[in-house]
Amino acid sequence: MITTVFFDLDDTLYDTTRLASLARRAAVHSMISKGLPLELEEGCSKLMKIIREKGSNFSNHFDILAEEVLGRKDFKIVSAGIIGYHNSKFANIMPYDDTISTLIALKRMGLSLNIISNGRAVKQWEKVLRLGLEAFFDNVVISEEVGAEKPERRIYEIAMERAHCNPDDALFVDNDIDCIIGANEVGMRTVLMNRSRKESRTDVSDFHIKALSELPALIEKL
Ligand SMILES: [Mg+2]
Repeated sequence: MITTVFFDLDDTLYDTTRLASLARRAAVHSMISKGLPLELEEGCSKLMKIIREKGSNFSNHFDILAEEVLGRKDFKIVSAGIIGYHNSKFANIMPYDDTISTLIALKRMGLSLNIISNGRAVKQWEKVLRLGLEAFFDNVVISEEVGAEKPERRIYEIAMERAHCNPDDALFVDNDIDCIIGANEVGMRTVLMNRSRKESRTDVSDFHIKALSELPALIEKL
């Protein structure tokens, strides 16, 4: 019987891909409005290239963009980028339409709900708080805090220790195939979340869903 559900955060409980893309556009727009001589689309693709090269947790993407375009540092334009980015994120961060109703339904079923997320601890916690999801979760396990990240065994084991559960009692929900494979390896049952209409592998997880709202009925049958 399932007693404990572990959720991924990004692109499982809310749409981080859309949020990041809106925020990057807002940042570039704001930099242009303060004098960066670029078209919006061109600026967005330059910024994406820098993000791909440096990784998304690097903190000086806008500095590099400004310097690349202007050939010098420009702190006013960098600040404009930061403001545009944060304003857009704060305005647009929200759970998926069915996140809250699903979490309420699962809580009513008496399940323990938990998060296992890869990333910087403060950044991931900020998302949980801004999304208003804190009260639903018994434990939030973040890779930076525990020194192991999905799909490493250790992070799933730590999460199960904290939730006082065995793999047999646990269900793991994630949109990422590698993270699902890691959870399979520690013996959890797994649900691959695929909201896009694109084809996805159906052979890696025990179950696959297109919306979180499918979860309560799925768990009831287990
Ligand atoms: Mg994810």
